[in-house]
Amino acid sequence: MLEIKDLEVGFGGITALKGISLSVAEGEIVTLIGANGAGKTTTLRTVSGLVRPRAGKILVDGQDVTRLSAQARVKRGLVQVPEGRRVFPQMSVLENLELGAYLRKDAKSVASDLDDVFARFPRLADRRKQHAGTLSGGEQQMLAIGRALMSRPQILLLDEPSMGLAPLLVQEIFSIVSEINAGGTTVLLVEQNANMALQIAHRGYVLETGKIVLAGTAAELTSTDEVKRAYLGG
Ligand code: ATP
Repeated sequence: MLEIKDLEVGFGGITALKGISLSVAEGEIVTLIGANGAGKTTTLRTVSGLVRPRAGKILVDGQDVTRLSAQARVKRGLVQVPEGRRVFPQMSVLENLELGAYLRKDAKSVASDLDDVFARFPRLADRRKQHAGTLSGGEQQMLAIGRALMSRPQILLLDEPSMGLAPLLVQEIFSIVSEINAGGTTVLLVEQNANMALQIAHRGYVLETGKIVLAGTAAELTSTDEVKRAYLGG
């Protein structure tokens, strides 16, 4: 469904991605793990069209989207939940969610998707009129995911959903991601919390300084000494 081929990205003198290739099949959760600065965020931002690559290709269902705008990619179902949530703090929860649907013209199904988001995140329903800036970190993460769901993603690109959250909330967010995936949405999940990511992912890739150094099923990666030592704290 999503294929990244020989992707190279640079910022001035820095080469952030040195020719990475990976794929995500329909229905999978694939995780990209790696330390700070390995290039995980850059990969997601390039896939969603916020960063232009120097070389390489991004294909969705076999079609080249590398030259498409970020907006055109959202229409093709590639939707990113940015690192650090980035909700609009002065807007209400409801307004933030409505923004997620701004490219859609099907008012009826937008309304029913809004009901679905509120059913999935009851805390957002209770706070629908509240400014997003007054929500807790976990609630803001839920809002950012809910906003992405409002654009009907085929592939959800999640950037460090666990960042800054207490362990119980991390569990909650990850089980929600699993549920969303079980509902038919394909997921590319970037995480520093390899332990949690490998618990819900089907497959994974390990990124080190702009290169993929390991790939395999979640079970394979979890039992690899290198991964245990460097990313699972054991
Ligand atoms: P983090 O977990 O901190 O987000 P990461 O694995 O996502 O780490 P990236 O944010 O993708 O890593 O960064 C990869 C490299 O590219 C780093 O060396 C970073 O400093 C550099 N980089 C990223 N974005 C930019 C930018 N806009 N301008 C210059 N350098 C950048």
